[in-house]
Amino acid sequence: MIVKEISVKSVLSKSQVYDYAMNPYRGCSHGCRYCYAAFMKRFTGHREPWGEFVDVKINAPELLAKEIERKPVGRVWVSGVCDPYQPVEKEYRLTRKCLEVLLGAGWPVTVQTKSSLVLRDIDLLRTSGNVEAGFSITTADEKIRQIFEPGASPIGERIEALNALHGRGIKTFAMIAPILPGAERLPDALEGAVDYVLVDRLNYHYANRVYREQNLAWAIENRFFAEMGRKLADEFRRKGIPLQLVF
Ligand code: SF4
Repeated sequence: MIVKEISVKSVLSKSQVYDYAMNPYRGCSHGCRYCYAAFMKRFTGHREPWGEFVDVKINAPELLAKEIERKPVGRVWVSGVCDPYQPVEKEYRLTRKCLEVLLGAGWPVTVQTKSSLVLRDIDLLRTSGNVEAGFSITTADEKIRQIFEPGASPIGERIEALNALHGRGIKTFAMIAPILPGAERLPDALEGAVDYVLVDRLNYHYANRVYREQNLAWAIENRFFAEMGRKLADEFRRKGIPLQLVF
């Protein structure tokens, strides 16, 4: 893993999902096989494969403090094109420092991760009533997780973390994207741990590519995504868990 410290000129960008996105790192060592953010590599000058480099935006917290002074208040998605709690965060604590800046100024924040390291910051997240913390969870099958998301936390750890966050009064959600084999067990696994669920096909194209490589062609031929999406929607609704299906 190549880790490089860099200085950037801006850290708070406009987002199509929320008002803003804030990425303390460029690159992501979770190395998910379907990662839609891999296009970022083009802008980094890195020759290493996606998942094998991380640029650390070492001036992110100071820059963020200045940027929020001159921009209108809006919800900030942490992160968008990297995982804010990937392993390098243990040492650099940039996500934590940026959250301190945002929450200290009263900005609403949506944290999204695949790492149980977020639990380190649970007390910080609880200082604001306008924080949501979510996990991307694509399957309940740990073997499938290992194929598609080799560097991220095991599924059981993610669900335990959601339970812990939810139990401490933080609004929680699960993002199921892309839908992978084994997702059919998620409604049971997530019951009581999340306030709502998002399901979309953001990474459909990338997941299909991996499916072909892994000889999981049935998933494409059987229109797995659409059918499973509908089943998940029915099951979550039956359990009274609000769900947004973006198909
Ligand atoms: S955790 Fe997110 S940003 Fe990181 S590799 Fe996986 S999909 Fe990409």
